Amino acid sequence: MTRLVIEGCAIATVDGERSEHREGHIVVRHGFIDEVGAGPAPVEDGDEVRIDGRGMLATPGLINCHHHLYQWATRGLAYENTLFEWLQTLYPVWAFVDEAVEQAAARAGLVALARSGCTTVSDHHYLFPHDGGDLLGVEIEAAREVGLRFHPCRGSMDLGRSSGGLPPDEVVEDRDAILQACNDAIDRHHDPSPDAMVRIALAPCSPFSVTQELMREAAELARRSGVRLHTHLAETVEEEAFCRERFGCRPVEYLESLGWLGDDVWFAHCVHVSESEIGRLGATGTGVAHCPGSNARLGAGIAPAMAMVVAGVPVGLGVDGAASNEAASLVEELRHSVLFARAVGGPQALTVRDGLELATLGGARVLGWDDQIGSLEPGKLADLALWRLDTAAHVNIPDPVAALVLGSAPPLELLLVQGRPVVRRDALVTVDEERLAVEVHDATDTLLTRAVGR
Ligand SMILES: [Zn+2]
Repeated sequence: MTRLVIEGCAIATVDGERSEHREGHIVVRHGFIDEVGAGPAPVEDGDEVRIDGRGMLATPGLINCHHHLYQWATRGLAYENTLFEWLQTLYPVWAFVDEAVEQAAARAGLVALARSGCTTVSDHHYLFPHDGGDLLGVEIEAAREVGLRFHPCRGSMDLGRSSGGLPPDEVVEDRDAILQACNDAIDRHHDPSPDAMVRIALAPCSPFSVTQELMREAAELARRSGVRLHTHLAETVEEEAFCRERFGCRPVEYLESLGWLGDDVWFAHCVHVSESEIGRLGATGTGVAHCPGSNARLGAGIAPAMAMVVAGVPVGLGVDGAASNEAASLVEELRHSVLFARAVGGPQALTVRDGLELATLGGARVLGWDDQIGSLEPGKLADLALWRLDTAAHVNIPDPVAALVLGSAPPLELLLVQGRPVVRRDALVTVDEERLAVEVHDATDTLLTRAVGR
């Protein structure tokens, strides 16, 4: 039995007490964390691999709670626009996404996340063009290849422009077909076991692209099937105006009226939420994926992340789709969460350790997976990141957590998912990164050619 020992590194466990070690050890066995503590690891007979972690910081693997992997194929478009303008520019291009485009985009997006310390990814895939193929199956296969734990959401849109929605009719689906596809996705892919590599959630896209009927029926199906629910909410002032005009209430009130608050639900964004709405989210245990980089890129505002945490809301971080966050780096989102909160709330608004908790344990709570991931504790899955802080970029920053959060993204010495290496010495060990650029270039070229030629 081979045990993996990492020692000599600083450790931020992000457990309930936020225990840290200036110089400690982590022992991994059978894909689980066996021991975490100060000083060198206890000596044991038998096979072992020993990693010298001096000059490094070990953290739980970061958890991404909101993304649209397919959008890697349409980065850098409509980059000075609001959300609704940006969507109206991109929907007609997205109408031509197929399996080949999805594969290249998902691989690139997943690799970027792995390189930024992420071990668990949720993806909100709501785009299913009529001739697009099995896009959900393709991204699940991409996550398996890259080696990341995956929590894709079978998303959907059924409110086209002709019915008062924002998306053009060619990218929306029929409600019965959506519900059937959701059922199939759960049957084929959802694994409820604690060490699952794939779990499914259901995720109608947003108030302005989905009917009330679909929202209600998706919630019923999710609860019958024991899977979680996800959607976009309260991202922009324009969405708030849409809800007031169409439903006569604010976004959170609208979702509550549809049975969509609860500890099995998480919303992306929640930028424009009132104090009483934050109270409702907290009282019901409804989670939030905070996406500071995307919100800033679209000029949408910044979610009151710590006010939500204080109110008892589970809050995690998300990069959001790469079409509204071209970097799509989760460790950068960690820095953004701290910096943007301070830009509006002062230097105490969000500490570096608050930020690290959002990126790890907070995200695990949002995904309902905090019994197995999100902190470095014996008995949890060995999903961890080992960051190098001994280069000129970080070496003189005394607090290793401050170095990780406030400094540039450090080189990643090792990224483990269930004890299996995905990144080693800042390079992917699972897929050929050299080929990604060609694949992504070709996918984007194909997509834009089709969109222009329509
Ligand atoms: Zn999104």
